[in-house]
Amino acid sequence: MSLNVVIVGHIDHGKSTLIGRLLYDSDRIPDERLAEMQKLIEEYKRRFEFAYFLDSFEEELKEERTIDTTRVLFKGRDYYTVVDVPGHQEFIKNMLTGADHAQAAILVVSCVDGVQEQTRRHAFLVHMLGVREIIVGINKMDMVNYDEEVFSRVKKSVVRLLETLGYKDTLFVPISAMEGDNIYKASQHMPWYGGVTLIGALDAIKPVPEKEKPLRFVVQDLYRVDSQKVAVGRVEAGTVRKGDELIFQPSGVVTRVEAIKSFPREIESAQSGDSIGIVVNAEIGRGNIGGHTRFPPKAVRNFLGEVVLLDGTLRQGGHFEIKCGAKRSKCTVVKIREKISSETGEVLSTDATEIGVNEAATVIFETEPMVVEKFAEIPELGRFILARDGKNVGAGIVLEAVA
Ligand code: GDP
Repeated sequence: MSLNVVIVGHIDHGKSTLIGRLLYDSDRIPDERLAEMQKLIEEYKRRFEFAYFLDSFEEELKEERTIDTTRVLFKGRDYYTVVDVPGHQEFIKNMLTGADHAQAAILVVSCVDGVQEQTRRHAFLVHMLGVREIIVGINKMDMVNYDEEVFSRVKKSVVRLLETLGYKDTLFVPISAMEGDNIYKASQHMPWYGGVTLIGALDAIKPVPEKEKPLRFVVQDLYRVDSQKVAVGRVEAGTVRKGDELIFQPSGVVTRVEAIKSFPREIESAQSGDSIGIVVNAEIGRGNIGGHTRFPPKAVRNFLGEVVLLDGTLRQGGHFEIKCGAKRSKCTVVKIREKISSETGEVLSTDATEIGVNEAATVIFETEPMVVEKFAEIPELGRFILARDGKNVGAGIVLEAVA
């Protein structure tokens, strides 16, 4: 198993230093694992090359290329990929584009400064984006003589913050990223601490077995190759097999999978993450989502989302462009249900009619018919971006469809 870990926390609390330390103390990555990674990277490239093949992908590609994070790989019992986060805007963008779906987060809090603005914001975002596990590293313990009291005090305020977000039984590790205390090696400086190291805490995270998700195939375009119609796109969840009967929404077209092309080959089945072409006998437009008739995707006109605004103002009655999957649609803010603190997740008011930059809210949207899924169930189609005048101004997750 390998785990994607995101390292978050207030500026200057020691995130970069921690990443350096993790690399420095980590075992070397064995060659066979490198080969495996190389394969993964090639897979990734193939996906991009395939994408190049499609004009309509250009825009997504541009967006994907702007993603700029530091990725490092280090080893505990398993392998961990760490994504360093320069700022929370990048973080949201990466999480939402699915570039970095992290299963766990390390929240770094300096014991000298305690909980700060970004500590709260990052914790909230990590929560909103469905990161299941948070481990807290109370850092810079060397600067306070490894004092247990300081640790306890800071821990208390972080516990309060995390509990409002619904995180319970969080592991807190007193660390010095600079000196390497309790990162890989148990510290000699803190005999009062009987707990695990930071790596020990990561190793203790139990993988949740992936439930087989229903198929969701996002159509990027329909091509005519010789006399065949090929719906090209990406499997975002589940598995598709040759011969399956699929329904595409919102168009409602039902058709059989006559063949699956993974250019230039033909394959029998494809899984989530695969970019493929499905040979069909129907007209299917861009943005349609295919699924099995047993677990069909459903097109909705209204849904409840949780949104963070990164630019401008979001008003009741206001209009945006929404992007979810490959679908773009106009949408209207029908109602702001609750304005939420983007620092603590607390409900601030239930009668707000607008929110501003860095503010969050649960919002009922009306759109042209489009397929969205609950983020908790199929995150790949449960994230969306709000744009206005061609500029991404907000991001969110789908809480539920509204009848
Ligand atoms: P970031 O903004 O969260 O990535 O923070 P950095 O890793 O850049 O660290 C900010 C400053 O704190 C730098 O000067 C680091 O050398 C220092 N720093 C980070 N971790 C520790 C630590 O454990 N002990 C001490 N004494 N300084 C640290």
